Amino acid sequence: MKFEQYAISRKIKDSLRELSFVKPTDIQYKAIPSILKGEDVLAIAQTGTGKTAAFAIPAINILYTQKRSSSFKGVRCVVMEPTRELVIQTARNFQLIGKYTNISILGLFGGVEQDPQIAKLKKGVDVLIATPGRLFDLISQGYVDLRALQLLILDEADHMLDLGFIDDIRQLIRYLPQKRQTLFFSATINPEIKKLAYSLVHKPVRIQISPKDPVSKNVDHYVSFIQKDDKRFFLEQCIKNNAEHKILVFVRTKVRAERVKKAMGRVEIQAETIHGDKEQKERSAIMRKFSSGEIKVLIATDISARGIDIANISFVVNYDLPDIPENYVHRIGRTGRGTKRGNALSFCSTEEKEILSEIETFLGTPITIISLDKYQYQETIESSHAVTHDMQALLRDVESFEEIARKKAKSKKKK
Ligand code: ADP
Ligand code: MG
Repeated sequence: MKFEQYAISRKIKDSLRELSFVKPTDIQYKAIPSILKGEDVLAIAQTGTGKTAAFAIPAINILYTQKRSSSFKGVRCVVMEPTRELVIQTARNFQLIGKYTNISILGLFGGVEQDPQIAKLKKGVDVLIATPGRLFDLISQGYVDLRALQLLILDEADHMLDLGFIDDIRQLIRYLPQKRQTLFFSATINPEIKKLAYSLVHKPVRIQISPKDPVSKNVDHYVSFIQKDDKRFFLEQCIKNNAEHKILVFVRTKVRAERVKKAMGRVEIQAETIHGDKEQKERSAIMRKFSSGEIKVLIATDISARGIDIANISFVVNYDLPDIPENYVHRIGRTGRGTKRGNALSFCSTEEKEILSEIETFLGTPITIISLDKYQYQETIESSHAVTHDMQALLRDVESFEEIARKKAKSKKKK
């Protein structure tokens, strides 16, 4: 069935056509009718399968067809996201899909001035897309009226219900009417979190696509065993072998991100970093440049592992393995989105073998190994620009040393 045949507003169909969304993806096909019926939904579908539109299309339709009364200025739909980048991205999706409706949309996150956000809230906002932090700030200052909220959506739901966020979510729910529709969307979920999710809703419809393999079908992923100190040589090789491609590199910490960037700089590879220590303006600028392809190599911490939808990332490198097994799925899910295919390679050091087996347990299957024989391994290190560069420098040193020695010998002779 095509979107044209859906029981949704003409105005939404027109914007979907402009986006070249002709047919629903599997998760959209399954989730949209239930949401339109007003049911609570817990939807699990792999990365890059179009979960955003799976909730945005029916949410906009509900809000558009059930008009708000002119005196009411409260928020009608809240979408929770774990990061500011995802707030921006999801707000953009809502804006594009709701382009011909008069639905008002606001993305809310910290690190920017709050006055313009408050001004918009005062005018009346239909869909508020937010990270928990700034949302609570504004709720506690009395700027957000949630008393008539119709829809609560948790994107990256397992993460939003996990330790770091669950208290925030519980607190938020206290402000919401009992009678509301709640939607959970995620690529991964564990049984404990699933139970918790069910406890927050009424008679949910559970929708799960390909539950067995959480990794997107579009991603080919491999692991190589590489010692910690050698990883930079292999990253250099990966980048040089894929010079035309956009590569996203994941590391464990902010400090490592900067260190790897420097190591790449020394071998004349331009890279940028993104992590929680950077100002919002800078983070947004870097994301824009990476999206446009101006930056080809982006080194990121796990803050960019979830949800980010950037076209044409052809390669994900796990320079360090993720501490949390499900983040493996989210990280490599930054490639192979929509109908595109993608590749991912993980560098596993001896110290990380335990984490690797935890990831494989989570996936329910081993990751294909690309084994490197001793010769290949050594050659990668020796062909590094850093090594050849050092060798050249060393040779130059030797030459100049010999030169000095010659000169000395000459002057001795004269005497
Ligand atoms: P997920 O949240 O499942 O990881 P997204 O919602 O970010 O995935 O969507 C992944 C990509 O698929 C986006 O670039 C989006 O524009 C595209 N997409 C979504 N739905 C459709 C559709 N019905 N037809 C074509 N492309 C789609
Ligand atoms: Mg998503």
